[in-house]
Amino acid sequence: MRPVGRSEGAIIRAEASQDATARVSPLTRRALAPNPGPVTYKGTCSYIVGNGDVAIIDPGPDDPRHIEALLASVSGERLRYVLVTHTHRDHSPAALALKDATGATIAGCAPYAPCDSPSVGGPNLDAAHDLTYAPNIVLGDGDEIAIGDVSLVALATPGHTANHLCFALAEEKALFTGDHVMAWATTVIAPPDGSMSDYLASVERLRGRDDRIYWPGHGEPVRDPPRVLRALIHHRRAREAAILQRLEAGDETIAEIVAQIYEGVDKRLHPAAAMTVLAHLEDLIARGLVDCAGQIVQDHAAFGRNRPNADDVIDSKSLERPSPRALEARFRRRLG
Ligand SMILES: [Zn+2]
Repeated sequence: MRPVGRSEGAIIRAEASQDATARVSPLTRRALAPNPGPVTYKGTCSYIVGNGDVAIIDPGPDDPRHIEALLASVSGERLRYVLVTHTHRDHSPAALALKDATGATIAGCAPYAPCDSPSVGGPNLDAAHDLTYAPNIVLGDGDEIAIGDVSLVALATPGHTANHLCFALAEEKALFTGDHVMAWATTVIAPPDGSMSDYLASVERLRGRDDRIYWPGHGEPVRDPPRVLRALIHHRRAREAAILQRLEAGDETIAEIVAQIYEGVDKRLHPAAAMTVLAHLEDLIARGLVDCAGQIVQDHAAFGRNRPNADDVIDSKSLERPSPRALEARFRRRLG
């Protein structure tokens, strides 16, 4: 554990309403961003931690309404830090405006690093990520941030994204889980930045802790972490078994597998499901259980071209659409 320096946040004066923010524990307030959607559920949850000296975890999209609401909520207090779990565009972009308005220090995950793939001609961008994110302090696993009398400790939890962090608030045995573990839905794992192998290891990591409650980036809190983690591992293993079964039955492509195992699921969610299947296949290939004819090549360039202009909501289309080349790849169960 390595403590990092304190910042001298300015005292904030704002006139806007504080109605959007609710106190959810003695040390925690929650503000819902106005960006509901299929990936964001009711919107991004930003958390204000501390009293007097405060930090905001996941400031959310660069939406003036949300930024104003956050500033109003911490009016008269000292915003020391803006902390970021990961660089998806529904989590980090408002950090800059809050820093500009208050002098707070931005601390959190590393900036997004585009995957450098020679097969598609160099570095390519995943449009789901916020490229404006510029932390003053990049936190590593175990780093501690002091906010007045309380402190938050960063926990490296790669999987949903390569740079994902959770933040632990020991005083309340609470963990701010970002998009790593949520109560309302399973986490989207979108390769190549997302990795199912890393994700499952990061879930196992949480099983070794004794957190009492999780505050996720979307939706309601997880009040029984051990049960939810067990269910989550079970769900992923069941998905994996279903994929292996489909490969044994003769399916060869992601599209065929999705059509079978997500039959009955809203078709609008099938692109996200295809990403999940791809993530599982990558994990199964790494474990020697599945072969892939040829190479799985992620067409990162497609993500770059589809990069949205609006910052206020995550672009679910670009996040969730697997590349044509990944869809064309042919997979089979390795025998013996
Ligand atoms: Zn995310």
